[in-house]
Amino acid sequence: MYLWGLIGKITPMQAYASPPENINELKALLAAQSAMLQVLACERDSLRTESELLRTESAELRAETELLKQSKQNNLEEIKRLTLLIAKLQRQLFGQKSERLAAQIGQLQLELEELQINEGELQSRLQKLSANSKRTVASQERSYPSRNPLPEHLVRERNEILPESASCTDCGGELFRLGEDMSETLQWVPGYFKVVQHVRPKLSCRACQSITQAPAPHRPIARSHASAELLSHIMVGKYLDHLPLYRQREIFARQGLRISDSTMGDWVGGVHSLLEPLLDELKKHVFAAAKLHADDTPIRVLAPGSGKTRIARLWVYARDDRPSGGPGPPAVWFRYSPDRKSIHPQTHLENYEGILQADAYAGFNAVYASGRIAEAGCWAHARRKFYDLHALNASAVTEHALHVISALYDIERSVRGQQPEQRRSARQAQSKRLVEELHQWMHEQLQSLSKKSTTADAIRYALNHWKALTRFLEDGRIEIDNNTAERALRSVALGRKNYLFLGSDNGGDRAATLYSLLGTAKLNDVNPERYLTHVLNVISDCKVNKVHELLPWNVRLPALAQSACEPKPAALEATAEEATAEEATAEEAQADL
Ligand SMILES: [Zn+2]
Repeated sequence: MYLWGLIGKITPMQAYASPPENINELKALLAAQSAMLQVLACERDSLRTESELLRTESAELRAETELLKQSKQNNLEEIKRLTLLIAKLQRQLFGQKSERLAAQIGQLQLELEELQINEGELQSRLQKLSANSKRTVASQERSYPSRNPLPEHLVRERNEILPESASCTDCGGELFRLGEDMSETLQWVPGYFKVVQHVRPKLSCRACQSITQAPAPHRPIARSHASAELLSHIMVGKYLDHLPLYRQREIFARQGLRISDSTMGDWVGGVHSLLEPLLDELKKHVFAAAKLHADDTPIRVLAPGSGKTRIARLWVYARDDRPSGGPGPPAVWFRYSPDRKSIHPQTHLENYEGILQADAYAGFNAVYASGRIAEAGCWAHARRKFYDLHALNASAVTEHALHVISALYDIERSVRGQQPEQRRSARQAQSKRLVEELHQWMHEQLQSLSKKSTTADAIRYALNHWKALTRFLEDGRIEIDNNTAERALRSVALGRKNYLFLGSDNGGDRAATLYSLLGTAKLNDVNPERYLTHVLNVISDCKVNKVHELLPWNVRLPALAQSACEPKPAALEATAEEATAEEATAEEAQADL
């Protein structure tokens, strides 16, 4: 703009046939021309930089695409290898009853499942990349598998989608049917599958012949039959109910539909890729808190190809200001790491400023050393040391410690839900004296106790963390303990028993994502499965700056459909023999959905 403005001013002077006689005019012309040359040089330089940037960007895009393609190739080879191995072991299992072999197959299936999900995720990412660089779109689309028709034997339900206006929008004329377009989605109704046929009549105007048709219904994952309800059901099954996909496939097969493992992998991987921006928004909300709770728990993960497991770590960061009357919605953010090195909490918390309430794990020390984050301790931890001793061998010392801590908890209960300032004054008036006396008493006990005694250990633990343990007296936002984070981890720890392990490090990252979103939905009393269904229905059409509107406390879930009185398909009443026959037909009908 600026450049053209300047040229506009100069051009009339350049129209001189010969240089002007007047020395001042000549000077002005020279000055104007040299100014213009400077501007042009600037413009040229910035164009050069821009084209340089574009070149680098497109090279980076190409490199990223190459990298993704390479890991896709490796992934596919590993899938082939594992599939062969599982088939071989299953043949062996057929001849003999071996629990160990069956367990081994189960592990390998879980490993395979995570690779299939990798595959789906890589595919979605490649598609996103190719959408960014238009040149490669055509080649990418060719490589994406196309949908096969849904099997004939499933119940069909017709869903007609009409344009908003009942008459011609151009002239108001009467519309008549010219034909229709139809697409199908696979729906899961608890207990059975049904196919919804989305029919869009083409309507033509009698007066002006213009044609109208409702827009095509949205698909959560491009070129896939799976409805948002079905995808959400599978995700909640895997991540909240700890049902691996191969178990879910067995359940679905009993309901008359065989879904291939690669299809399930594409679905789950596609969903993960869709949820990425939402997780970023959730993280922003959690780390915007003035006070965070943090904790971690061990979790088993399969070591690739070895059939053995190793111990990895799941971290949780929880925001919940309800106990101090805070208005912000509660939320949790989980992260997975292959080990418990302190670099992990340091990375998670690198931009956080505020209070961190955690147990006394030394891995957080570097975080506090930065000065950005104030440490608040956990009285439940201090109490547990005395409680364990007391249960084993009660003494006057353990009894007194437990008695005082219990009195502190009584005071906390009386101020629960009140504003920080009220909590602080109650603590100053009542708890502070108890804590100071306890401090004095603990030092006295150490004088008389043997250094090696376990009771002395319990006391030293409390005294070593005294500053963190007493910070709650000065700040009404702080809790007396870290139960908020421990509660958040409990759902995962519960799963550990059924699930036993994660399939891979990538699988750990994905589990953390879903624990975060579904866990936050639960904390906000939002039904996780219905919430995820809603998100999957709208997220791909959602603008980047609107994604936060899909956080659990911002959504209004549509009213439940009246589907309870729907007739059940005959297949459910079929005898066992018929059902087996049906399963076999279903398998033939769709080797690969
Ligand atoms: Zn018309």
